[in-house]
Amino acid sequence: MNNCLFCQVVTKEIPSKLVYEDDRALAFQDIHPQAPVHLLLIPKKHFDTMLDIQPADLSLLTHLMELIPKLAKEHGLAKSGFRTVINTGSNGGQTVYHLHLHLIGGRQMTWPPG
Ligand code: 5GP
Ligand code: ZN
Repeated sequence: MNNCLFCQVVTKEIPSKLVYEDDRALAFQDIHPQAPVHLLLIPKKHFDTMLDIQPADLSLLTHLMELIPKLAKEHGLAKSGFRTVINTGSNGGQTVYHLHLHLIGGRQMTWPPG
C-alpha cells in the first residue's frame, strides 16, 4: 500500500478540490491556502523530491512547466503575477514528500521568503 498523501490524492482515495487533471498531472487547491489562489501542481508519478528527477523524466517536468501559465491564466493571475515554489527537503520547508509545485497568487508577495 502506498501511504503517500499525494499519491492518494491522485487515486482519489483522499478527496481534493481538483482544478485540472490529465494523464500525467493533477492540480488542486491547497488545503491551507497562503494566498487567495494557492494551487498544488503534481506529477501523477511519484518522486520524493526534485532530487529524484532523472533525465528520462524531463518531458514530464516540461509538461508541468507548460501547465503553469495555463493554470495562472485560468485563475486570473496573468496580469497581476504570481509565484511558483518547489520546496525541497528539510531546509527547503518540504512537508509532503511527493514532488509538487506551489502556484500562489492574488496578493503581493514579499522577498526574501521566510
Ligand atoms: P510543502 O510544505 O511540502 O512544500 O507543501 C505541502 C502543501 O500541501 C502545504 O501547503 C499543505 O497545506 C498542503 N497539504 C497538506 N496536506 C494536504 C491535503 O490533504 N490536501 C491538500 N489539498 N493539501 C494538503
Ligand atoms: Zn506520492
